[in-house]
Amino acid sequence: MDESPGKSLIALAVLLVGAGLIGWALGHVALCLLAALAIWLVFQGLEFRRFWRWARRPLSRPSNRSALWRAPTERLFRALGQSRIRSRNLLERLDRMRVINQALPDAAILINPAGQVTLYNEAAARLMELGPDNLGRNLVGHIRHPQLIALLEGKVPENLIEIPAPGPLDRRLEVRRIRIDRNDWLILARDVTQLNRLLTMRQDFVANVSHELRTPLTVIIGYLEALEDQTLDQDTVQQVVQKLYSPAHRMKALVDDLLLLTRLESSPVPMLSDLDPVNVPRLLRQLKTEAEQLSNGRHDIRIEADAELGLLGIDTELHSAFINLITNAIRYSPNGGQIWVRWYKTARGPCFEVQDEGVGIAPEHLTRITERFYRVDFGGARVRGGTGLGLAIVKHVLKRHDSALQVQSEPGAGSRFYTIFPAQRACSLSTAGHEDDLTDYHH
Ligand code: ADP
Repeated sequence: MDESPGKSLIALAVLLVGAGLIGWALGHVALCLLAALAIWLVFQGLEFRRFWRWARRPLSRPSNRSALWRAPTERLFRALGQSRIRSRNLLERLDRMRVINQALPDAAILINPAGQVTLYNEAAARLMELGPDNLGRNLVGHIRHPQLIALLEGKVPENLIEIPAPGPLDRRLEVRRIRIDRNDWLILARDVTQLNRLLTMRQDFVANVSHELRTPLTVIIGYLEALEDQTLDQDTVQQVVQKLYSPAHRMKALVDDLLLLTRLESSPVPMLSDLDPVNVPRLLRQLKTEAEQLSNGRHDIRIEADAELGLLGIDTELHSAFINLITNAIRYSPNGGQIWVRWYKTARGPCFEVQDEGVGIAPEHLTRITERFYRVDFGGARVRGGTGLGLAIVKHVLKRHDSALQVQSEPGAGSRFYTIFPAQRACSLSTAGHEDDLTDYHH
């Protein structure tokens, strides 16, 4: 519909020629020409009025009829439409940026050259306790920290500092200053409490492993030095060599546990559908033999297992977790103590539990005993032969089986370690032909 304005001029010319001819015929050329011009002007006036009305709200197509008006108004309409689309796109992008900015876990604060806060996101409100009152105010007035002042003044070489977060929680913030244009600065802050904790944990872990390996190694070196004595008789040499086994076994147990932990942490969790049922009652029977060897008749170990109850899981991992719990019950129970190992159905799912009448655990230690190398100090007799990794292994295995370790314990009265697996992991075992599996493993 983009007619050329030339057509309009041709129409005007035709109108004038026509009027001229009529005027010539009537003998009033000038009058007719004037009348034609007036008609044309009235028409253009109407067109202008149409344009004017349309221009007030240029959302629909312009309604001009004359090509002289139609072409430019159409072009204007199209340009307006495109600019509307562009602004809508820009607004959408701005909105997305705002949403992203608000969703960022890190605090972002815009600071003007006077050091005043001009904009901040949700995380800044949370991590740095900023509120609408802080807008237009100095950031250092809100967080008075010498390092932050130095950072904002540009006196920190890497533009990076670590300061305590405001508020009662013991959190640390890493704060960075970034120039965004000649006048404004962006202050980014992230919570590094967890990262610091992990770094400390890693350092502690290395220190602990070194310490745990150093102790048996020192013993081994001591015995080896003793063996260098040429005057030792054969029997003494034999005795010393025998003594080398214990620290060597201790080191091997530690390395085995470390490798197992690493494997548990790094290997992917198999899908439930890929797993075969584990015959837990049979596994417990096997564990009972191992436990009795360890206890050497010093404890009364009882196993009560639902013979038909199996579990979708990883056999070897469950073996490691269960033997660790049973070994602990033996290790932390006095001679003659009773230990119950139970495997039964509950409304929530299958439950495995180990109960002892041992030393128990004080409440302040309960939340920490699954940490690597965390041990309760039993008044000097700190180490009872474990690697300190047992419960960490249990925790990981159970996590890989969608469950968690629960502990009920009372110092002096004993402990109950248990876990309830999700009901969908339970499976029924065919007991036909396995008479012994049906029995309850009481003494
Ligand atoms: P460890 O090799 O020292 O036994 P674990 O990770 O298995 O390491 O256990 C961590 C700590 O938890 C133990 O050192 C012990 O203090 C405590 N603990 C674990 N099981 C028991 C239990 N059955 N009775 C009392 N204390 C226990």
